[in-house]
Amino acid sequence: MDKLKNRNIRFRYKKEIFAVVLCIILCVSLHYICTWECVMKTECRFMAQFENNKSRKVAADIIKECSVFPAAKNENVNREDKVNCYYENGYGDGRSFGGKRKHEGIDIMSSVDKKCLFKIRSVSDGTVEKKGWLKLGGYRLGIRSDSGIYYYYAHLASYADNIKCGDRVKAGQFIGYMGNTGYGDEGTSGKFPMHLHFGIYIKDGTGESSINPFYLLKKLEKCR
Ligand SMILES: [Zn+2]
Repeated sequence: MDKLKNRNIRFRYKKEIFAVVLCIILCVSLHYICTWECVMKTECRFMAQFENNKSRKVAADIIKECSVFPAAKNENVNREDKVNCYYENGYGDGRSFGGKRKHEGIDIMSSVDKKCLFKIRSVSDGTVEKKGWLKLGGYRLGIRSDSGIYYYYAHLASYADNIKCGDRVKAGQFIGYMGNTGYGDEGTSGKFPMHLHFGIYIKDGTGESSINPFYLLKKLEKCR
């Protein structure tokens, strides 16, 4: 009688364990499906800004070669410090410093106005093409990918040690720290809140022109 009772209890638990495992599998699957759907949507939105087949090929190259979100919390920052980054679709917004112009990138802002809280990473493999001070961009790096796309990282607080023009970099490689340099002579900082200005430039007929990286960033962030 007892044996039969024990077997029934075991059987009942088996059913419960099966239900829990099934639930976990369903939740994980749902999470992956939602993430995948979001990634696909943001890819489509990114592609939508390209008008013809030639530029769509460039967009496909960008999607293929970019694998890393450009800002990552510095691991030396205290875990208790609530430091986050955020950004919105401010591409094309008006700017006035240095003359009336359009904003040619996306600003990834730090929630805490302190330098070096975020490490800046290359979004793709490539070669360092430009390094140094720009009146608008402050300390900046320009990295040319193998497909010819130019990725622009501006307002850095400082560079990764020894990084120089001609260096090969890998996607995800640390290249410098987030800062707020620029809008003046070399060394000027503090004219605006701490952020990374991230830009993408593609070749066109006359030279290079910027495109909107917003949906690419969303995709790299897995649509967080
Ligand atoms: Zn900007």
